[in-house]
Amino acid sequence: MSGIFLKTAHEVYFIYRGYRMLCRTVGLIIVLNICSANYGQDIQYAWQIIDTLCSEQFKGRGFVKNGDKKTAALIRTIFRENGLEPLTENYYQPFQIAVNTFPKSIELVLGNRPLVPGRDFVISPSSPSFKGTFKLYAIRAEDLIHQVAPDSLQVPDGSESCILIDNRHNDELDANARDLLSGIITRLQNSLATNIAGIVELTSEKLSWGISTDISLRPYIKVNYPADPDTLENIFIDLKNRFRKKYTTKNVAGYIRGTECPDSFIVFTAHYDHLGQMGADTYFPGANDNASGVAMLLYLSRYFQQNPPRISIAFVSFSAEEIGLVGSFHFVNHAPFDLRKIKFLVNFDLVGTGSEGIKAVNGTIYPDEFQLLKEINDEFNFLPEVSERSATCISDHCPFDYKGVPGFYIYTTGDSPDYHSIFDRPEALSMAGFEGLATLIIQFVNYF
Ligand SMILES: [Zn+2]
Repeated sequence: MSGIFLKTAHEVYFIYRGYRMLCRTVGLIIVLNICSANYGQDIQYAWQIIDTLCSEQFKGRGFVKNGDKKTAALIRTIFRENGLEPLTENYYQPFQIAVNTFPKSIELVLGNRPLVPGRDFVISPSSPSFKGTFKLYAIRAEDLIHQVAPDSLQVPDGSESCILIDNRHNDELDANARDLLSGIITRLQNSLATNIAGIVELTSEKLSWGISTDISLRPYIKVNYPADPDTLENIFIDLKNRFRKKYTTKNVAGYIRGTECPDSFIVFTAHYDHLGQMGADTYFPGANDNASGVAMLLYLSRYFQQNPPRISIAFVSFSAEEIGLVGSFHFVNHAPFDLRKIKFLVNFDLVGTGSEGIKAVNGTIYPDEFQLLKEINDEFNFLPEVSERSATCISDHCPFDYKGVPGFYIYTTGDSPDYHSIFDRPEALSMAGFEGLATLIIQFVNYF
C-alpha cells in the first residue's frame, strides 16, 4: 500500500477497488493465501485469555480483592510478551474512582428459604449496609404505580418493614408502566418521605447487576424466585457495603511502532473491568463483557507483532468502564500523545458471539469507512453480516467521539448471551464471529 496516509475514504476506496481487481486477477490461490481467515493465529489463544480473565482469581475484575489490579498486571505482561512498547509510564495510567463494593458475604432468607446471590437475587449496587429480620408488606406493581404519592408510601412499623413489590407479571406491563415503576423504585431508595426500611421486588425477569459510585439511603433487592407474596411474612437480610471514596485503578496502554509512519496511529481499545463481587462468594465473570474484547485486543497485538504495521498501532485496555466510561474519559483528558494523530479507532466490547455478524456503532457517522468495512466483508465473507448503528454513548469509543477522533465501536450479534449476570461465562460464548472479525479488522486497518 501507499506510504502516504489516505486522507479521504474516497481515496481509500479507490485503492481498495484496485486491490480487489488485483485479487481477482492474480487468482484464487493467492486470494486464499492473502485473505485466508486465519493468519496462523489460534482461536485457542483467545479462549485461554477469556478463561483466565473469568477465573476465580480475578474476582470478576472489579474493585474487590484487587481484581482490577491483577487483571491490569496480566494485560501488561502479555503486552510485553507481544513486543508492545509502553505508551504511558510502565504501561499504566492510574486514576481514582469512587465506588460502592460488597466484599463480605451476603445472606438473604425469604420466608424460610435461604436464597443464592446472583442466581436468586441481586442487591441494588448503591445499597448501604443492612441487617435484620423485616416484616413484608406486599403491593402489586400496578397498584404502586397508581398510588397518589408513591414516594411517601407509609406502612405499619416502618423501620421494621420492607415493601414487597409483586412484579412477577412484569411482561404484562407496557414500556411506560415499566419506566414509571423503575422511577418510583429509584426515588423510594432515597426518599425522606416514606417510612419503609427497604424495598424487595419479586420479578420474573432475568437478573442483571451493575456498579454504583454512590450509596442510597435504603437497599433494594430484586428477587427472581418462585414464591407467592401472600404467603411471605418476613425477610432476613445481612449485607455490608464498603464504600471506596478514592480507589486507585488504572488503564493499560502500549503500542507497536509503525515501520513507515510511526507518528500516525490506529487505536484498538477494550475495557477489562467488570462488576467484580456481590458478596464474598459471588463474582461476575464477564466473559462476553468484556473478557472477549480484551482477548481481541491481545490477539490483534500478537498478530501485529508478527506482521509489523506501516503506521503505529496503540492498544489500550480501560478500567472503570462499567461505572460510566471513567477510564476512557480519563485517557482522552490525559492523553499520552496528541489525539489528532489517530487515523481511526476501533473499540471492542461484547465480541464473544457473532453467529449473525457484527454491528458498527458510528457506521452512519463515518459512511465511507463503514462502506469499506462492508465491502471487504462482502468480498471475503468473514462474517454473515456487517451492519451499522448511529452514534451512541454506550462504550469507550464515546469519550474519543467527543474529542472528534474518528472510530467505530464494534460488537458481535446473534445468540443471546446473558448480560451483567453470573451466567456470562466462557462456556456460554459461541465465539462464532471472533476470528472473522479479527481478520476483517486486520484488512480494514491496512487501508489507513
Ligand atoms: Zn462492556
